[in-house]
Amino acid sequence: MSLSYSLVQGAYIVAGLLFILALSGLSKHETARQGNRFGVLGMSIALVVTILAATSGLSVAGLELSAGSGAKGLAFIIPAVAIGGAIGIWRARSVEMTGMPELIAILHSFVGLAAVLVGWNSSYESSPYPKVHDVEVFVGVFIGAVTFTGSIVAYLKLSAKIKSAPLMLPGRNLLNLGAIGAFVVMTIAYLTLDSTFARQSLLGLMTLVALLLGWHLVASIGGGDMPVVVSMLNSYSGWAAAAAGFLLGNDLLIITGALVGSSGAYLSYIMCRAMNRSFISVIAGGFGVEGGTSAGEGDYGEHREIQPEGVAALLTEARDVVITPGYGMATAQAQYAVADLTRKLRERGVNVRFGIHPVAGRLPGHMNVLLAEAKVPYDIVLEMDEINDDFPETDVVLVIGANDTVNPAAIDEPGSPIAGMPVLHVWEAKDVIVFKRSMATGYAGVQNPLFFKENTSMLFGDARARVDDILAAL
Ligand code: NDP
Repeated sequence: MSLSYSLVQGAYIVAGLLFILALSGLSKHETARQGNRFGVLGMSIALVVTILAATSGLSVAGLELSAGSGAKGLAFIIPAVAIGGAIGIWRARSVEMTGMPELIAILHSFVGLAAVLVGWNSSYESSPYPKVHDVEVFVGVFIGAVTFTGSIVAYLKLSAKIKSAPLMLPGRNLLNLGAIGAFVVMTIAYLTLDSTFARQSLLGLMTLVALLLGWHLVASIGGGDMPVVVSMLNSYSGWAAAAAGFLLGNDLLIITGALVGSSGAYLSYIMCRAMNRSFISVIAGGFGVEGGTSAGEGDYGEHREIQPEGVAALLTEARDVVITPGYGMATAQAQYAVADLTRKLRERGVNVRFGIHPVAGRLPGHMNVLLAEAKVPYDIVLEMDEINDDFPETDVVLVIGANDTVNPAAIDEPGSPIAGMPVLHVWEAKDVIVFKRSMATGYAGVQNPLFFKENTSMLFGDARARVDDILAAL
């Protein structure tokens, strides 16, 4: 089937609109599924039209196949799409919810790598506007390379294959600034060079500098700032795709990349606000020490323990209960048991609500996705700002596998590595029950004085098993 240029552009506008509808749908629980459907439809249109356009000899996709070579082009494209699609479906179906953050990080690295390859390929092509084209190549390869290695380091940190502690090289900010300065100087030099060998050598050197910068940028960011890093890399991957779109002359890739880039940048801003951090201080790195699992240094006294029967007795008496889930709920896959407990308590007339910290878990919206999966009604799932004033009137708070997000040290201890980060004020409730397996610290590696407060009791064990025990005792 052969397509005209205007038909392709029309289809691209429809796909672009579907992507905008997808983003707007994804911003609310109720419309997220519909948003996903719009996104899938938009991407299907984009793929089919781009392949058909390429095989029609149209140069909208960077695949300038002559009309006669369409079948030959398809012989490469269709197997590539089939293999890539099959791997994508297999990974998406097999990934555990707890593995999502690292899967997303590695997918961002693919976008970066693609931008680098497109840039290098494009550097061998001629253009009617050579200087503009040269700048596009340099910018595309630079953003792509930073995204590539940055995402790989994020993947290694999120999957705990390397420590989340920040790499504190001496003069690390100067190193970052130096790399950006070198990029600017090399771009200007590239524009003035004529020899192909010299140009390709300079492009190679710049690629190496950008790869090192991406690695160093993320390596020097501490565990406490990883939420911002994830959204920042999301944004970079969008700009890398947009840069590839310029190089390929593909309008839809530019639009899609810009949508991902700007929404990722906005998400980074929201995450920075949630952590009470400035974007610059995140880049400067060092926030949040060891991502360890050992107990901290502070001497806060003795902690109290409680058994599931004791928690059931407290819940039987309670009128207002707030559940604050964290990463431990995800690892324990406790969301279904928590949803059952919520249902049972609500049937008994207890006012049960959820308090969600913006960086709970390991992914923006992690807890919301888990609770939606377990069919917890959306209207009882509240943001931190919506619930924080209600803790003094709450009878029981169930802290299910959360730690850093309920740590009062962020408020009470100015010297703490997480000082200044807004947290859920769970300790203001009458009784607090903390579900976890040990006294170990959370992701930021900071001991939690909440565990030692008079109104706090620790319920040790796997969160899912303990919630099941409470259900049995109720
Ligand atoms: P934390 O990571 O601070 O703590 C989770 C707690 O869950 C641990 O203390 C652990 O204690 C407990 N736990 C683990 N497994 C189980 C289990 N099976 N059953 C019961 N408890 C369990 O979680 P929060 O959600 O409070 O905080 C999120 C942290 O992750 C923040 O520091 C945030 O900055 C960071 N982060 C967030 C990202 C995001 O986008 N949301 C991205 C990257 C990092 P124990 O081992 O004793 O059981």
